[in-house]
Amino acid sequence: IRRIVVKVGSSSIIHPTGRPNLLQMELLARQLADIHNQGREVLLVTSGAIGMGLHRLGYTRRPRTLPEKQAAAAVGQGMLMHLYDKFFGEYGVPVGQILLTREDFSDRRRFLNARNTMYALLRQGVVPVINENDTVAVEEIKLGDNDNLAALVATLVDAELLILLSDIEGLYDADPRRDSGARLIAEVHEITPELEALSGGAGTPVGTGGIVTKLQAARIAMHAGIITVLASSSEKDVVRRVVAGEPLGTIFW
Ligand code: ADP
Repeated sequence: IRRIVVKVGSSSIIHPTGRPNLLQMELLARQLADIHNQGREVLLVTSGAIGMGLHRLGYTRRPRTLPEKQAAAAVGQGMLMHLYDKFFGEYGVPVGQILLTREDFSDRRRFLNARNTMYALLRQGVVPVINENDTVAVEEIKLGDNDNLAALVATLVDAELLILLSDIEGLYDADPRRDSGARLIAEVHEITPELEALSGGAGTPVGTGGIVTKLQAARIAMHAGIITVLASSSEKDVVRRVVAGEPLGTIFW
C-alpha cells in the first residue's frame, strides 16, 4: 500500500473539556510520520477546528448561529495546524494545510487544481492536513462532515486505503453506547439498508456525523475500489497495524 488517507474525528483529539488531547495528537503524528518514513504517502483529514476554537473563545455550549461557529473555526483551525506542525515537525515531516468545500469536488477546474496541489505536496514529502473550509462554507456548499470529505479526498488522490479513526472500535450491530450487548462487525462487503439502520447519531458532544457518515464514506470509497477501515484512535499503534494488514475494527472492501 502506497497512498493512505487517515481521518481523525474531533472526539479523538479533543478532551470532553474542550481542550486539545495532546497525547492523541502526538501519537497520531508519530505513527503517520513513521509511515511517511517508510516511503508511503499519507494525507491527514482532521476535524476539531470548531471544538478547539469554541473552547479558546470561552464558550461553554455550542453557539447557535453560523457566523459564531465560523468564527470559532477560524480560531481553532490555526490551533490545529499549530499543534500538527509542532508534532510532525519534531519528526522532521513538513505539513501543509488544505481547506476544501463541496465545490472543490463538483467543479472540474477546482477539482483538478486541488488534485495538482495535493500531488505537488506529496512529491515534496509533505503530509497534507485537510479540513473542510468551515469559515467560508455556508450550508449550501458544505459537505457537512469529514468522513465524506476523507472519502472524497481518497478518491481524488487515488489512495488505496482510507482509515477512519474514531472513539469507537468499529461498526457494531447496535449503538454500543445504548446497547451493552452490541457486537463488532469485522467485515462489510456491501452497505445495505439493514446496516444503515444500525446507526444512531453522533456519540459525543464534540462528535458530528455518528456512524451514518462513516457508512457513507465507506460506500464512496468502496465504489472507487478503496479499502476502508474504521477503528479506534486509542488502539495502540492502530495506523501501523492497519497498514500492516492486521484485522482491526471494521474493514469495508
Ligand atoms: P467522530 O467524531 O470520531 O467522527 P462520532 O461521535 O461522530 O465520531 O461517531 C462515532 C459514534 O457513533 C460512536 O461513539 C457511537 O456511539 C456512535 N454509534 C452509533 N451507532 C453505532 C454503531 N452501530 N456502531 C458503532 N458506533 C455507533
